[in-house]
Amino acid sequence: MSKTSEEHSLLVLKNYIGGKSVSCRSYIDSYDPSTGEVYCKVPDSGKEEVDAAVAAAKEAFPEWSARSPEQRAKILHKLADLIEANLEEFAQAESKDQGKTITAARTVDIPRAAYNFRFFSTSMLHHTTDCSPMDHMGCLNYTVRCPVGVAGLISPWNLPLYLLTWKIAPAIAAGNTVVAKPSEMTSVTAWMLCKLIQQAGVPPGVINIVFGSGPRAGDALVSHPEVPLISFTGSTATAQRITERSAPYCKKLSLELGGKNPAIIFADADLDQCIETTVRSSFLNQGEICLCTSRIYVERSIYSEFLERFVAAAKKWKTGVPSDPSSKNGALISKEHLEKVRSYIALAKSEGGIIHCGEGLDQLDLPERNKSGYFMPTTVITGISDSSRVMQEEIFGPVTCISPFDTEDEAVARGNGVRYGLSATVWSKDVGKVHRVAQRLQAGLVWTNCWLVRDLNLPFGGMKNSGVGREGGKDSYHFFTEVKSITIKH
Ligand code: NDP
Repeated sequence: MSKTSEEHSLLVLKNYIGGKSVSCRSYIDSYDPSTGEVYCKVPDSGKEEVDAAVAAAKEAFPEWSARSPEQRAKILHKLADLIEANLEEFAQAESKDQGKTITAARTVDIPRAAYNFRFFSTSMLHHTTDCSPMDHMGCLNYTVRCPVGVAGLISPWNLPLYLLTWKIAPAIAAGNTVVAKPSEMTSVTAWMLCKLIQQAGVPPGVINIVFGSGPRAGDALVSHPEVPLISFTGSTATAQRITERSAPYCKKLSLELGGKNPAIIFADADLDQCIETTVRSSFLNQGEICLCTSRIYVERSIYSEFLERFVAAAKKWKTGVPSDPSSKNGALISKEHLEKVRSYIALAKSEGGIIHCGEGLDQLDLPERNKSGYFMPTTVITGISDSSRVMQEEIFGPVTCISPFDTEDEAVARGNGVRYGLSATVWSKDVGKVHRVAQRLQAGLVWTNCWLVRDLNLPFGGMKNSGVGREGGKDSYHFFTEVKSITIKH
């Protein structure tokens, strides 16, 4: 059957297994979220492809794990250099594939992908293990850490290359080999990375990338008996499924999941700084970041002023074509996701909520070719009860809810009143107060008077339904290695 001209122009990705690009029998359509058009074909891998990738990773493990950390570090540095050298090309591709603005991809996603390799290449060189003498027994006890084997890495669509490399870098720096599966919706920059993996001199089989859907390729990976650890970032529902599927093999799991993150704003906060940052924390990357603020609790004495100023600032957070440098937000990931996010606005309205700006109120000014893209304006809601699904569930879009509070105890209780516990922000000039509230909030990360300041040395991850385990610095080292206690009797 002859191909149409449109099929000829489509980008067709291949799996990367054992250092080679490998075609797949069937493919999945991938859409440009800013136009709604199919522009790419992603391999629809299943058990067969995952088996081949695991076999390649297993074969590469003995040689790679026997190298010194310094030898491995050199290769990670080269990968970081190569990503930096190709930054603009990667940024353009990430923006087209994900819908995010080119500015976000250029200043956040791609630089961080390079930094992940840079950071873990050196971080792995500086860990020490424990030693505990028992002189009265004539014994010396110490621990050693060894790589685990083939790591299965599964990443989501919101920060595609950023989160994929956050897993690949520490896994291989610690001496493991990997099979990674990016989201089927955002596979292009992972595919581009394969070329750089070759150029950097990563030995065949050390990094394998298998493209495909979660239920097929992802499931084959998490239930593979020869993959002893899984690092997963994604939704809580998928994490539950992965936990079940991997349970028969007692796998080591690291699960970085969703959030419903509160901002608690006291009357003595620096309002200029707080409003600017809280607009960013609510809407950055179309609100498609697990750390985004989605519930804003404001002390009643400043509530009216805050609301008025916040809505004015939210309206200025422009949603537009991703390539336009004046756009702060681009398109949401998919039609289905846009519909899901919109359904929460409809729910809020049906429960008597007030929509102050955004969906249903503000028209977007988009060029003709972007009219079928998945755009949605920044939306601010008030008047919703804490028990509403709008206040309890992760919406993962450019939507935030604001509500007044009267006391510190009330703010903490309401901040903690969801099943999630990923991050929180606290705003006040009173050091004692921010310290007290930060201690009491059930969240893996608490930022006071700032947001998204990340030191990769410190643990990242969530409490409650936001995750199991931590990664970053020493925690990644611990997750991607097994510890052994050795006793020497002399
Ligand atoms: P999903 O859980 O739907 O998907 C995440 C990844 O898992 C994708 O690669 C997906 O593949 C794959 N997957 C889906 N089903 C299975 C399965 N049965 N077995 C194995 N793998 C599977 O999440 P989203 O992609 O929708 O990402 C958004 C979520 O990620 C949000 O909840 C967000 O909060 C969370 N997140 C958490 C972060 C954190 O660090 N805590 C950071 C960023 C996002 P495919 O897409 O191809 O189907």
